[in-house]
This record gives sequence, C-alpha cells and structure tokens, in this order.
Amino acid sequence: VIWADDPVDRLVPTPQGLQALRAFANQAAAAVQAADQLAGMRHLAEHDPLTGLRNRRGFQAGMAAGIEQGPTLSLLICDLDHFKRVNDRFGHGAGDRVLEHFAGLLRDCTRGSDVPTRLGGEEFALVLPGADGVAAMAVAERLRRSVREHFAPHPASVSVSVGVATTGPDLTTAGALMRAANRALYAAKHLGRDRCVA
Ligand code: GH3
Ligand code: MG
Ligand code: MG
Repeated sequence: VIWADDPVDRLVPTPQGLQALRAFANQAAAAVQAADQLAGMRHLAEHDPLTGLRNRRGFQAGMAAGIEQGPTLSLLICDLDHFKRVNDRFGHGAGDRVLEHFAGLLRDCTRGSDVPTRLGGEEFALVLPGADGVAAMAVAERLRRSVREHFAPHPASVSVSVGVATTGPDLTTAGALMRAANRALYAAKHLGRDRCVA
C-alpha cells in the first residue's frame, strides 16, 4: 500500500508526484512477484511433488550441518517392502497413493526439528537431531507399527523396513551415517523385512 497524501499538508500529490509514485509502485510489485516466483521455484527444486516431502537435494549437506550443531543425531532410512508387487498388482496410481499415505505417517512421527525426506522411489529418510540410539529406535518402531495398522485394511500387503544409525565415536560424518543406516536397512531386509535394525 502506498499512502499518496502529502504527510505535511495532507494534500493529494501533483500529477507528476502521482506518476512517480505509480512508477515506484510498479517496480515494487514486479520485485515482490519475482521474489514470490523465486520462492516457488526453490520450493519445487527442494521438494518432491508427489508427497510434498523434502527431496534428496541438500539432504546430506543438511545432515552434516546437524551433526556439527549437536553431540547426537540419528538417521532412519526407510524402504517399503516388496513395493514393486503393489504396483504390479494394483497399478502405479494405487502405488502412488500408498507412497502419499506413507509420507503422511512419516510426517506424523516427526517433531519440530526432524527432517522427513523422500530419498527417491520408495525410499525415505528421517533425520532426528538430538535423538540417541534408543530414542531413534523408538521412533522407527512407532513408524513401522503405524504402517502395519494403517494399511491393514488395504488389499495390498504394505510394510516398511528401517535402518537406524546414530552418531558416535565411529560415526562422525554424514557419509558414514548414511552407509551405516543403509547397512542396517540391508540387514532388516535380509532378516525378513517389516522390522527395524540399528
Ligand atoms: P524390497 O522389499 O527389496 O525393497 O522390494 P521392492 O519391490 O520394494 O524393491 P524394488 O527396488 O525391486 O522396487 C521398487 C519399486 O518402487 C519399483 C518402482 O516401480 C517403484 N517405484 C519407485 N518410485 C515410484 C513412484 O513414484 N510411484 C510408484 N507407483 N512406484 C514407484
Ligand atoms: Mg528400494
Ligand atoms: Mg522396497
């Protein structure tokens, strides 16, 4: 809003004054629009359109920053079990709905500073700043159980396997944490799926 009265004598501005104000207003509006568009494009670049979660971009850098901020940080890597079968039996549209609902359950497990992310496909991650191994395992189990409960009436069998890793003397970098969580996830799959392994 531009207040066009003269602040001293309260008179409306001269035609030249109005013209200058109009030019200024047009410039300001264009700048606000450009900033809005940039924010929208940045959101698109950093978020997954299907689930609305953060995408992989900047994920590892964000985790590295989190590790520097606090003494403890945990990472959950979640992979839906036999998800290809859901697509094969019920179609990709139904598969997409399952991914959306899973993203909602993942969001429900997060607190303020946690970062739920879709790493790609049917793989998701949750970064838990400040959470030690016990706390992270509790979150992972809560998520795993909520997936079973939520999809129990669903004709497809939907479950999730979760690999959990926590910073410690042997795990001090984002890369090492990722590798450890992926190893744990691999073990969860190998042990029969629908489980959490640290
Ligand atoms: P596992 O328990 O070993 O993880 O088995 P899986 O079938 O889940 O693993 P696999 O890697 O063989 O298959 C993943 C499937 O996820 C294959 C791919 O079509 C599907 N997928 C990946 N992204 C999407 C998506 O955005 N939408 C849908 N509907 N399916 C997707
Ligand atoms: Mg996978
Ligand atoms: Mg899978």
